[in-house]
Amino acid sequence: MLNFFNICCFIILFATLSCTPEINHAKPSNPSKKMTEQDWKNKLTPEQYKILREKGTEYPHTGIYNLHFEKGNYHCVACDALLFKSTQKFKSSCGWPSFDDAVENAIEYKADKSHFMIRTEIICKNCGGHLGHLFDDGPTETGERFCVNSVSLIFKKE
Ligand SMILES: [Zn+2]
Repeated sequence: MLNFFNICCFIILFATLSCTPEINHAKPSNPSKKMTEQDWKNKLTPEQYKILREKGTEYPHTGIYNLHFEKGNYHCVACDALLFKSTQKFKSSCGWPSFDDAVENAIEYKADKSHFMIRTEIICKNCGGHLGHLFDDGPTETGERFCVNSVSLIFKKE
């Protein structure tokens, strides 16, 4: 016979089972996301590691791509994923390479509340590397400014 205690047990058990998160087996695994911090340390230069893995920022007006306007593509220096095109880059006075848009599905966005500010962190979707921040004060029609560390990027001529 079911008493009140048994019924409660069933309810708790059922609730626990139904809350078990589903594992998506269909999604392909990304080798870059399986890399340990030691793997990244071995792969990246100390400067690249500091910015990409420890969310550092290069000094303004020092990056090699700040005033770089050749025709081509900007890839993630850590995993080679295509992130930005030269047609998306604009001349900004902020001191970092700036883009008004990114390659579709290349970027992950994350709220960043560090340094007493609320900003949107931009991350390479493929490897999780920190790229910079996204601001809504861009001068072009998109209104967006992807402010990116040169250190996180590698340029490839078209
Ligand atoms: Zn990457």
